[in-house]
Amino acid sequence: MLMVYVQCDNKAPINASLEALTEAVELSKDNVAAVLIGDFDETTENICKEYGASKIIEVATDTYNLRTNGKILKALIEKYTPKLVLAGGTAMAKDVIGFASAGMKATALSNVTAIKLNDDIEFTIALYGGSILRDVTVNNDKVKFAILSSGAFKKLPNPAANTEIIKENIEEKDLKTVIKEAVTEIAESVNLEDAEKIIACGRGMDTDEGYKLVKELADTLGAAIGATRPVTESGRVTRTQQIGQSGKTVAPKLYIGCGVSGATQHLSGILGSEYIIAINKDEDAAIFDVADVGIVGDAMAVLPLFIEEIKKLK
Ligand code: FAD
Repeated sequence: MLMVYVQCDNKAPINASLEALTEAVELSKDNVAAVLIGDFDETTENICKEYGASKIIEVATDTYNLRTNGKILKALIEKYTPKLVLAGGTAMAKDVIGFASAGMKATALSNVTAIKLNDDIEFTIALYGGSILRDVTVNNDKVKFAILSSGAFKKLPNPAANTEIIKENIEEKDLKTVIKEAVTEIAESVNLEDAEKIIACGRGMDTDEGYKLVKELADTLGAAIGATRPVTESGRVTRTQQIGQSGKTVAPKLYIGCGVSGATQHLSGILGSEYIIAINKDEDAAIFDVADVGIVGDAMAVLPLFIEEIKKLK
């Protein structure tokens, strides 16, 4: 059996988890268990069914707690003994998988871009921001954990013939942390890891006037706002909006970088994007190497024209 840790946003499985579910079903049709820990309902179950889960294992909890979720996942793995546990490449999944795998002294690989299931399991992982791909075979009997690189796998519905729903009641207490309240920042109302369109604000636009234009473009397109590290460090946006090696890995249909130079630490977080547009006044900026469309110019002048044209098209 393969197991997929499914992360939800407002009870809907996020894209990164559906990519993991799609890959698991491709590797092991009819033998994939989707694990739901937290708050879910029939809609959540229906989406998991649509994406091919033959089992849905549910553990209802009130709040998200890394340690308890990790322990619950570990208990489920010990009970159901999957060969491999997959998860989408989000910060939350990295927390939970890290905790569960450490508790089991088992191998967890992140930034996984391909999986081959033979007697052993072969993984391809992206290193150094995706500039090197390395094949790894883990040869021990323990369960393996794979955190997928967002956007590296497709997301395709493939309904299961039958889906068994199992409700588990696992009481895990974290004696070190008591979560009294969970607060979602306004900036997180759109989950960056799940956003279809992202406008990234770089240091080149980290001014009141620059950010105003970035926000206007995002509002016009219905896009989420992401940022490079200097922009989160300046306090203009929240830490949860940082994209890159020490931030989030995103895989939108459209990414528009405004005043972003394209440092490898930022690029490693955007390479799963389907279409990249970059606006930078330096024609040698590294972001142009990965952009589908590059606009060399002052974003302060380009963005108003861009916004005007989009409004006309609308
Ligand atoms: P800069 O590199 O300063 O680039 C600004 C760009 O804006 C320039 O190319 C300039 O030509 C352009 N520009 C200026 N004005 C305009 C204008 N008016 N119109 C158009 N273009 C303009 N960075 C991340 O983003 N995410 C991470 O997760 C991350 N993790 C890191 C981890 C480590 C261990 C380290 C060492 C660094 C990390 N960094 C990360 C930082 C990274 O190395 C870069 O410093 C950062 O990405 C640069 O951000 P930037 O492109 O906004 O700024």
